[in-house]
Amino acid sequence: MISPLNDVFNLFYPELCSICENQLVKGEKIICIHCISDLPVTNFCKLKNNSVESSFYGRILIEEATSLFYFHKKGKVQKLIHQLKYKGNQQIGAILGDWLGENMVLSNRFNDLDCIIAVPLHPRKLQKRGFNQVTTFGQSLANKLEIPIVENVLVKISSSQTQTKKNRFDRSMHMNEKFELVDNEILKNKHVLLIDDIITTGATLEACSIQLQQTDNIKISIATMAYTL
Ligand SMILES: [Zn+2]
Repeated sequence: MISPLNDVFNLFYPELCSICENQLVKGEKIICIHCISDLPVTNFCKLKNNSVESSFYGRILIEEATSLFYFHKKGKVQKLIHQLKYKGNQQIGAILGDWLGENMVLSNRFNDLDCIIAVPLHPRKLQKRGFNQVTTFGQSLANKLEIPIVENVLVKISSSQTQTKKNRFDRSMHMNEKFELVDNEILKNKHVLLIDDIITTGATLEACSIQLQQTDNIKISIATMAYTL
């Protein structure tokens, strides 16, 4: 909403870019135009056999997979996801979901999806944080792809340490992450888009997919905000 009152408000409490913290100008929202143009976009949507897809070869059967950004330690994407996850700026998830969703639609590789399932948080962690950091991302993807989100079918039953601090080679350390499929009928014959924030080792998405695959004739694709090189 733009109004004179709004301008006065912004004078005293200017809206800042979530990444560089410079003051946003009119027309900019959450991220400034300089930071947007500087974000490391992968273009995986268009690319068959991209790094996300190949990282799951021999582990789980995935139809299509994509990530919006490359994730670098101390990079802009880390800052952005930190703001989303730990500062509660959930509009960031919505922006990234719109961005990736548009790319997915344009790619024509994600046309036959039936629903979205987000990697769940452990109920204790959800209560502590107050929200799942992929919820708004999922809602935007659902809008763009015109498919529903299915909740409470996949649940997390044990916690582990934060994923982002590790690298791909520490996979064995994550195997204490446990998920459970509550209902193995509801996703029958469905093509599910499994979503998460960052792929580091892929162990979380692997553990979720193993549970989902207890359903007859299920197909799984993956979309995340970022992918760690
Ligand atoms: Zn900025």
